[in-house]
Amino acid sequence: MKTYRKELWFDVPSRRAFINITPQVEACLKESGVMEGLVLVNAMHITASVFINDDESGLHHDFDVWLEKLAPYEPVQQYRHNRGEENADAHMKRQIMGREVVAAITKGKLDFGPWEQIFYGEFDGMRKKRVLVKIIGE
Ligand code: ZN
Repeated sequence: MKTYRKELWFDVPSRRAFINITPQVEACLKESGVMEGLVLVNAMHITASVFINDDESGLHHDFDVWLEKLAPYEPVQQYRHNRGEENADAHMKRQIMGREVVAAITKGKLDFGPWEQIFYGEFDGMRKKRVLVKIIGE
């Protein structure tokens, strides 16, 4: 069995963003040489997400509005976690959008359904953060 590990780094210039990381994951897959197996992609920070959905800007706007309704950034003082920092909303947004995805690898490609793409969701940006890519298979 082959194994492969890589960290992808992000330094998002805004507080929140969604980034399509499918090309980077496909590059990892190619580098791994795995033809049949599984790929795990997870955020290594507790205020960021990795998720699979459609690459459609309207939907990303809708996600952002929906998350801001569920866990508004302000007023900052509404959260107990914000005694000392101010990213409680980011922890909650990440919890809803998820930590990781697992995708099947078939014949050397990501075995996706129609429109499926992998995204990095940033909820407390303007600093360096990592995503782990782990691939196992033959
Ligand atoms: Zn925090």
